[in-house]
Amino acid sequence: MFESFNPIPRILMGPGPSNVSPRVLGALSRPTIGHLDPQFIGLMDEIKQLLQYAFNTQNAFTIALSAPGSAGMEACIVNLIEPGDKVIVCINGVFGGRLKENIERVGAKAIVVEDKWGHPVSVDKVSDAFKANPDAKALAFVHAETSTGARSDAKSLCQIAQQYNALSIVDAVTSLGGSELRVDEWGIDAIYSGSQKCLSCVPGISPVSFSEKAVEILKSRQSKVQSWFLDQSLVMDYWSGEGKRCYHHTAPINSLYALHESLLMLKQEGLENAWQRHQRLHEKLRHGLEKLGIEFLVDEAHRLPQLNSVLVPDGVDDAHVRSTLLSKYNLEIGAGLGQLAGKTWRIGLMGSTANEQNVALLLAALEDTIK
Ligand SMILES: *Cc1c(COP(=O)(O)O)cnc(C)c1O
Repeated sequence: MFESFNPIPRILMGPGPSNVSPRVLGALSRPTIGHLDPQFIGLMDEIKQLLQYAFNTQNAFTIALSAPGSAGMEACIVNLIEPGDKVIVCINGVFGGRLKENIERVGAKAIVVEDKWGHPVSVDKVSDAFKANPDAKALAFVHAETSTGARSDAKSLCQIAQQYNALSIVDAVTSLGGSELRVDEWGIDAIYSGSQKCLSCVPGISPVSFSEKAVEILKSRQSKVQSWFLDQSLVMDYWSGEGKRCYHHTAPINSLYALHESLLMLKQEGLENAWQRHQRLHEKLRHGLEKLGIEFLVDEAHRLPQLNSVLVPDGVDDAHVRSTLLSKYNLEIGAGLGQLAGKTWRIGLMGSTANEQNVALLLAALEDTIK
């Protein structure tokens, strides 16, 4: 017969989801209320403010989209890009490739700037792409490429886009809450993230923020947004407006309780303290991995603290190690993705997973398993 589902708890040290703290799970289990209940509207307002804090932005249009990070990506593209537009898109891993796919699906022309997997996006190549295509409407790139563990220089990339009066569209799914990110200071026009990486919330929500310029572009579109659900001009009235919120879709009420709690935890820790914690634990992990003779894929200067891509040592069975870590230690690490499948492991130190205990356990378990 069927029974309730009770998973064995795991330590989630892969590319996401990360471990959800008891505090956030507690928030998730509070009573469901109506999504137009005045109490809930108050919660939505606080979520917007807490997201502005996390993104370092004053953008009025800062919301939590009711769908995973991939939908945040799609929302940025379908709302801001129209058929026939030219978009410079940077590919240095799996997620950059998905951006290109989204751009082409709306009927726009993707101008691809390619870099090796494990390398950051080349600022010089992007500059050259704008010189050759000064009429490009936007630049789209991934800040923290989770498939490789490389961090790109979002500040410099956005500066180039600004010089050409182009929009910048930034994937911050893995960077938000884990490493330095300053939406207003860096001049980012459209940014999306995910709830389940460094925010350590349950999966399925995508924080999104648009600058005033991006909102203007959305409002002055020639054509309707192809996706009704992701059309942010319709969602705006649901997330803002004094007392006149209108129904768009039923928000994932309890998941938003959880998001609120995880953002509150981030605020209480302090954003910069959270960045520092990820960096400190990354260094501790790096030190231990080096002692085991394990090497990183990415150059030190461009490594993400929250996603450590390391080379599977010669003679070691990738899948066997991962399955042993899972069955013997209840510890999950990620496999290589795309062209790095079988070649790398992806060790996540995201959000509440990033603590001393987990780093020590992983190092001991890995040593035991490799030997
Ligand atoms: C995880 C991830 C996504 C996709 O997010 P989902 O919530 O899985 O849809 C997009 N971009 C990057 C960089 C990611 O790490």
